Amino acid sequence: MCIYFIGNTLAINDHEQETTMSNISILGLGAMGSALAKALLDNGMQVTVWNRSAEKALPLVERGAIHAANATEALQASPVTIISALDYQAVEEIVQPSSGTLVGRTLINLTNGTLSQVRAMAAWARQCGAEYLDGGVMVTPDLIGTEQAFVLYGGSQKAFDASEDLLTILGKPVYVGADPAMAQLFDLAMLSAMFGMFGGYLHAAALLESEQVPAREVTPMIMSLLQAMVGLLPHIAEEIDTKPNLQPDSNNAMMAVALKNVVEGSIEQGIEPSLLEPIRALFARGVANGLGARDIAALVPLFKV
Ligand code: NAP
Repeated sequence: MCIYFIGNTLAINDHEQETTMSNISILGLGAMGSALAKALLDNGMQVTVWNRSAEKALPLVERGAIHAANATEALQASPVTIISALDYQAVEEIVQPSSGTLVGRTLINLTNGTLSQVRAMAAWARQCGAEYLDGGVMVTPDLIGTEQAFVLYGGSQKAFDASEDLLTILGKPVYVGADPAMAQLFDLAMLSAMFGMFGGYLHAAALLESEQVPAREVTPMIMSLLQAMVGLLPHIAEEIDTKPNLQPDSNNAMMAVALKNVVEGSIEQGIEPSLLEPIRALFARGVANGLGARDIAALVPLFKV
């Protein structure tokens, strides 16, 4: 629930006239919030910053940022505020005390969370009179502002259109629709793919290390294989969406055997198999469900609980 400080509204609005001094405010100056603020400052924006641990604001103040004494002051300083914190609990702790200052302002939450967390936050922000966008940054902080950077946004189209030029500084802004939770869905899906790849790579490195083979010796070959596999994704996506009954070259029964070898071979080498065991079990379940002659696209329905 949004708590408005009705008695203070006029005073706050008067104060806003005096204190709106920057184009954008950034709440949360971890690795990502700091990178966002830095990119905006480097592009000539007036930026107000605030972080729970004040010392993280110092490098940004040296670049020209205005340091707000608290989150409310930062929210009042700009028409648009981006919040980048560890999780939604942190976001709530940061913005809840400022609920009375959000009327007519745009709040852009780039904190990773779940769809229900996004929907609750969006409802709260709207009740507080704010335009709300939720999103996800799809690169690491060092890539903010580069051509590789893209950021997902969902929620108020009005707020997105009004802020698009500003947001372009951070990376290509990708608006995924009026439901703010959609950006988080896209984000979680992309992270699932990314962490699956990283987890598999770490397992590969442990397996190589079991015979004292340096990871850097084999990594170029792993990259070559993964790049070829990534090239198959559009074809797999087409199959997932259209569900044709294809007889592929690489069928699930063959891959179930290979995965059994990966798990058993890892145990033989003293490597913990628990990361890849559920993938082995998935393919075995696919075979048991009559999908042995099909390819991996046919396994997606098995994920439903
Ligand atoms: P981080 O460096 O660990 O920073 C976390 C931030 O959250 C800090 O500003 C921290 O404040 C603040 N915080 C944590 N708990 C808080 C609380 N209870 N009250 C107030 N502030 C609190 O994390 P990050 O890398 O900046 O990540 C921020 C968001 O960006 C996350 O949602 C993450 O998933 C997303 N993201 C990160 C990356 C990446 O590679 N780093 C890439 C894409 C997306 P203090 O400084 O006071 O601790």
